[in-house]
Amino acid sequence: MTAQTRVCDAAELGKWLEQWIEWRATEPTSDELDKIRDELGDDAVRRKLRQRPAPDLPLGVDEWCRHLSRLEELASAGCQFGLDDLTAAEWRGRSAYRAARERFWRRYRPCPGCERPILRIARGHDCGWRSSEQ
Ligand SMILES: [Zn+2]
Repeated sequence: MTAQTRVCDAAELGKWLEQWIEWRATEPTSDELDKIRDELGDDAVRRKLRQRPAPDLPLGVDEWCRHLSRLEELASAGCQFGLDDLTAAEWRGRSAYRAARERFWRRYRPCPGCERPILRIARGHDCGWRSSEQ
């Protein structure tokens, strides 16, 4: 089996997409990194980035996930794809991406403050939002 065929396997791709989406969701924003750099310096930024190693995905899968994510961004920005605009693998990949994203948002609720996912049971969030629930 070639690497390309493997990437198109829906079940495997779905599993990888879930790992990738969760990893991307924990990515610090550039504002967060700037704040850490200002307050604690470059070493603290490097430590923060080392705390979240990339998921162990097969070669090329990270690029494929990024590509599918970019296609979804374009679609949600209003770009309409015709049947001939994307390959069959891209159409299948987009369905797998949307399904994986739905599974992700069923597991984690969005923060009322910044709309990024709250990944741990917490009364507050990195952005500064605090729950009034006790
Ligand atoms: Zn937040």
